[in-house]
Amino acid sequence: MPILVMKFGGTSVANLARIENAARKVQAEVDRGYDVIVIVSAMSGETNKLVGFVEGTSKLYDAREYDAVVASGENVTAGLMALRLQEMGIPARSWQGWQVPINTTSAHGAARFVSIPRENIEAKFAEGFKVAVVAGFQGVSAEGRITTLGRGGSDTTAVAFAAAFGAERCDIYTDVDGVYTTDPRIVSKARKLEKIAFEEMLELASLGAKVLQTRSVELAMRYKVRLRVLSSFEDTDETSGTLVCDEEEIMESKVVSGVAFSRDEAKMTLVRVEDRPGVAAAIFGPLAEAGVNVDMIVQNISEKVAGDTKLYTDMTFSLPVNQVERARHALEASQGSGLSYAELITDTETAKVSVVGIGMRSQVGVAARMFAALAAENINIKVITTSEIKISVLIDRKYMELAVQTLHDTFDLDRV
Ligand code: ADP
Ligand code: ASP
Ligand code: MG
Repeated sequence: MPILVMKFGGTSVANLARIENAARKVQAEVDRGYDVIVIVSAMSGETNKLVGFVEGTSKLYDAREYDAVVASGENVTAGLMALRLQEMGIPARSWQGWQVPINTTSAHGAARFVSIPRENIEAKFAEGFKVAVVAGFQGVSAEGRITTLGRGGSDTTAVAFAAAFGAERCDIYTDVDGVYTTDPRIVSKARKLEKIAFEEMLELASLGAKVLQTRSVELAMRYKVRLRVLSSFEDTDETSGTLVCDEEEIMESKVVSGVAFSRDEAKMTLVRVEDRPGVAAAIFGPLAEAGVNVDMIVQNISEKVAGDTKLYTDMTFSLPVNQVERARHALEASQGSGLSYAELITDTETAKVSVVGIGMRSQVGVAARMFAALAAENINIKVITTSEIKISVLIDRKYMELAVQTLHDTFDLDRV
């Protein structure tokens, strides 16, 4: 039997009626002749609630127990989905990560797949089961502890199963009917894309578009999984939604394909660090050791200070807002031992807005158009980074929505 992977996100399994609605979509595929692997998320809001329980119990919590708690949301929906399918007369059973087993690294809270052996699930399909309902987001480490894959990780579970089982397609059912030019909840004129290239989706996801977890796109690209995003609330068929595919499959070629944003960014500036070889390593080494995800970096031109022969510069970088304290701690601990600075300035009210498009590879002037559009709205740019297919700017958070709307208009994204 051909295999299909169907993933249902939190809003798609938020209550019993929605689980039933999702189960009908599974039934339709079973009726078409597929053996189906269903990946479920926790009911929406559930994972946040569980994270709150952990943080309310222990500030410096044991990551293994964090995973034991937060993985449990998916266990509930997996069991309920299997029960609903049984009620509909479809032979189905649930699988928790350790039962498959979904083998992962022991990096609790951010585990990666090591292997997904097919034997157990295949044996059940051979016995006549039509559906395997697998709890997303979780796995088991070599030490036998429950692990989780990071927020949004059920997307990655789905793609990994599609790759492991050679599924015909991996369908990600969610609360929007596809991937849009930007988040349709921010820009009402956002347009649904028929297709999007893996590279572009990878950039959009990593720059903040949470419709797919970044790692899921990476895996789909590496293992050539046919990945589709579609609505669990509408009638759908083989042509619905957005296909994430190789760029060769795409006819439409706009310079910019989408706008992404990340709301909770911060900026830190080390004022007057000595400008000499090794200074960047002296700053970013301790930050890396402390697990801080530094994103954008700029170093000012160097200057002399009166009465001193050395050269000095300022170093600015961006990071997630919730890592500011950790970063400050790491830098202050390094003061004196290999690093010295006059002042540490923190701005926790910033956001990152990015434009993405493979067309940028061959087109000049995109950055200039972007900067001019933001200037026309009086939006000040604090930091800029670019790569071959994206340009990102850090701006004041209060202008984030305006910037996203403006860039969407500037690059005519509402029109085909
Ligand atoms: P699920 O719970 O199904 O995993 P998520 O909330 O993780 O769903 O992802 C879907 C959400 O992603 C949408 O509701 C939408 O607000 C947001 N989103 C952000 N950027 C985009 C985009 N470019 N296209 C579609 N949705 C987007
Ligand atoms: N339930 C997990 C989360 O909220 C995983 C997922 O939904 O993909 O992050
Ligand atoms: Mg998600």
